[in-house]
Amino acid sequence: MTDAALTQTIRHAAADGEGGAAALPLAGRLPAVRGRISHGAMLDRVTWFRVGGPAEALFKPAGVQDLADFLAALPGDVPVTVIGVGSNLLVRDGGVAGVVVRLGRGFVDMEVDGTEVIAGAGALDVNVAEIAQRAGLAGLEFLSGIPGTIGGALRMNAGAYGAEIADVLVSATAVDRAGRIHEVPAGAMGLGYRHAAAPADWIFTGARLRGRPGDPAAIRARMDEIRAQREESQPVRSRTGGSTFRNPEGARAWELIDRAGCRGLKIGAAQVSDRHCNFLINTGGATAAEIEALGEEVRARVRAASGIELTWEIRRIGRPAGAVPGATTDESGSKA
Ligand SMILES: Cc1cc2nc3c(=O)[nH]c(=O)nc-3n(C[C@H](O)[C@H](O)[C@H](O)COP(=O)(O)OP(=O)(O)OC[C@H]3O[C@@H](n4cnc5c(N)ncnc54)[C@H](O)[C@@H]3O)c2cc1C
Repeated sequence: MTDAALTQTIRHAAADGEGGAAALPLAGRLPAVRGRISHGAMLDRVTWFRVGGPAEALFKPAGVQDLADFLAALPGDVPVTVIGVGSNLLVRDGGVAGVVVRLGRGFVDMEVDGTEVIAGAGALDVNVAEIAQRAGLAGLEFLSGIPGTIGGALRMNAGAYGAEIADVLVSATAVDRAGRIHEVPAGAMGLGYRHAAAPADWIFTGARLRGRPGDPAAIRARMDEIRAQREESQPVRSRTGGSTFRNPEGARAWELIDRAGCRGLKIGAAQVSDRHCNFLINTGGATAAEIEALGEEVRARVRAASGIELTWEIRRIGRPAGAVPGATTDESGSKA
């Protein structure tokens, strides 16, 4: 039986109310692809925290069309989660149900087009900053300070040192859960503070970013300055997820955490950074549960000290260790 025929059979079984689709192992339900699918790959290897259980299936598409065809043929009940390089991600110890999409080699191309850079969503932000510098394009230096991919930067409206994606984005391309390809102008992305209102099921595949003519030496100097500032103020060589909590209106998360006495606080091998107390660190061998419990403890102490409710900026995905398969797989069901 071909994969397409198998998919149809499964759909009919589900429609007949036999519960057959959900009962079948995922491996037998996935469409054929040109890229790679692995089953049970540990996600701790691909996140900055170095924690996280397995992906039921990990899909690295060969390119945009491969991704679109896969999503179009994938049974509608299979959850899909996209990750970049995991620099803003806490993957729980029980792993992630369904398909985890990771954009690899097929999505890292970059090209300069006049004063704009066209980049695949798998390209590292720092590489986009580098190519812009070499082409004498200013305005994208801030990307050199963010350790994620362009896809993660679009979803998070990543920013640093007075600039963010919203300031430089011309347009983005995305594939939705039904496999349809979209090209959206920046204005339709709904970009706000560390947030894009674009549909949650969209997987960004690329972006067109605007620079402006500049002196390559001055651009390089600005990038060096950003690197030095980051090294001084952030635990950039640690296993961390960057800023843990969003800055509440009119306040800074790190100051609230500091005033609540949380600097250096530990649960197991998870610790609030001494250097920047809005960063949590895996000091070695921490579990995702310890890191999440530490974050919740910080929220409780800040609430008690200041009455302010901190909101997670780090995205938490997956299920706790020992959870029943099929249990909540994203942060929507958990505490803010
Ligand atoms: C040391 C350190 C410093 C940091 N400094 C900054 C900073 O200065 N400014 C800042 O803004 N952030 C900072 N971060 C956080 C992080 O680097 C950014 O949020 C980054 O944009 C995340 O990109 P990523 O590829 O790692 O995405 P991931 O962490 O893998 O994913 C983050 C979110 O983006 C989604 N996502 C990823 N790829 C795609 C895609 N192709 N399509 C749709 N959704 C996608 C994921 O589903 C998830 O919800 C820092 C992190 C660390 C570890």
